[in-house]
Amino acid sequence: MVSGKLILNVIAGVSSLILFSCNNGSQQKKAVDSTKKTVVVNTMIPGTPIHYDSSKRYIFLTWDDSPQPPGTQNCTRTFREQGVKATFFAVAAHYNIDPLRKKILDSLKKAYPEFLVANHSYTHAFRDNYNFYYMHMDSAVNDILKAQQDMQIPLKIVRLPGRNTWAGNSEFRGPKTSEKVARKLDSLGYKIIGWDIEWQFIKGNIPKQSATALAKEVNDKFDVGYTNQPNMMIILAHDRMFAKPQYIDSLKALIQLLKQDHRNVFETIDHYPTVQQK
Ligand SMILES: [Zn+2]
Repeated sequence: MVSGKLILNVIAGVSSLILFSCNNGSQQKKAVDSTKKTVVVNTMIPGTPIHYDSSKRYIFLTWDDSPQPPGTQNCTRTFREQGVKATFFAVAAHYNIDPLRKKILDSLKKAYPEFLVANHSYTHAFRDNYNFYYMHMDSAVNDILKAQQDMQIPLKIVRLPGRNTWAGNSEFRGPKTSEKVARKLDSLGYKIIGWDIEWQFIKGNIPKQSATALAKEVNDKFDVGYTNQPNMMIILAHDRMFAKPQYIDSLKALIQLLKQDHRNVFETIDHYPTVQQK
């Protein structure tokens, strides 16, 4: 389904796995089995740039506050069934709660290029204390750096908790309150990613818009060109919104509606233009 990733279906008796890099940005895994047969598998490294097709429109499904079972697993299953890529912005404090969440995050990290894990802070702004968090730049930046290290996030890509902020390459856009933190992270080589459209929720976790309404919102916004980057649409949602069957169905319906337009391509956020730019 996904180019650049050849699945090694069955290797009986694998005794060792050797990793080495190639010039084209891909990585090869050489699996050596006990019967001395050697199989080479290509996998893409997060951040390997893609070439854009100007006839396409790129959609980035970015899900926040991961991992939040069972929503996270319901989403990954749905994305896989539908053959679309997505990005999970993870919160280290969530991931550290129990072994199940650690297991979910680890499996997401291994699922590139289908899924990418990015940084959504350690404490989620000290549990949603946004004003306090952004007033104290050093502690906020440290919170994000600690999450990066703790979760071993592969790329310096961050979504700030509670703020639709964009920063990178010395540029900034977003609420003034988040500017100092964003600029500091930018100076450390981080790309701060906001969103173009949010699939909002009510009562903590119930999707607000219907799949049809959201698909219309996406198409209308593409048509008028009101996106942060031309032809690129970042959709924000939260894993916890998809805990119940009827909302998993809504997610499936949204993806199916978006797939009806053959210009639409689903990508992970490392392939967003401001992230690909060096
Ligand atoms: Zn969040």
